[in-house]
Amino acid sequence: MRFDIMTLFPEFVSGVLSESIIGRAQKSGAIAVNTYNIRDYSKDKHRHIDDTPYGGGKGMLMMAPPIYDCYADIVAKSGEVKNRRVIYMSPRGKVFNQEKARELAELDQLIILCGHYEGVDARIIEEIVDEEISIGDFVLTGGELPACIVTDAVARLVDGVLSSPECYENESHTAGLVEYPQYTRPYEFHGMTVPDVLISGHHANIARWRAEAALRETARLRPDLLEKK
Ligand code: SAM
Repeated sequence: MRFDIMTLFPEFVSGVLSESIIGRAQKSGAIAVNTYNIRDYSKDKHRHIDDTPYGGGKGMLMMAPPIYDCYADIVAKSGEVKNRRVIYMSPRGKVFNQEKARELAELDQLIILCGHYEGVDARIIEEIVDEEISIGDFVLTGGELPACIVTDAVARLVDGVLSSPECYENESHTAGLVEYPQYTRPYEFHGMTVPDVLISGHHANIARWRAEAALRETARLRPDLLEKK
């Protein structure tokens, strides 16, 4: 799967995504992450990409033409792609969750537009964007962190990124619950020991304990999830 991220701060995005598991997944070829500087597509001699909003108001808006030219360049460079989606990171959008991550992980190509300042000219959304996605009901200065969050959450569901699908099959939000508590060495820490069942070697009992613990933890930490279920 390939991710193409349109931003005013490509180094910010590539820096975050070149580390750890997502960085290794790019090196192994399981995913490709390309970043594009929207400013490179400005036709203005000062490389302007923003202007004041019609109707007045504080702040600057990103103009449609450089974003469109960036998008057109990505599409031209991508060749034949069966399953592509363009998303705009936006606090107006539907809030991102694991179900959306699973849906996006089925795509061949995800193009992500990061806004900045007061956002983007509404006509570019109309013209190229399939979906506006928010990472929560709060406002950040730019779409770069949201784009990294979406890319990370989607990429880890792509084949070959994690060592095995088991890594995400039992974790929080996969079955509408949060994960059971996990423990590793040492056996005792500050007087607290690991639950006996986990060192019993009895796989059925361990599975039952984990299922019950996941329910208990969901009731404790996220009762809203149980209500939904
Ligand atoms: N004026 C816009 C509004 O009220 O909806 C907010 C613009 S915000 C300061 C600048 C950019 O940050 C947005 O264009 C978007 O790309 C990004 N952004 C901010 N908060 C976000 C969120 N919660 N989820 C996704 N992107 C966000």
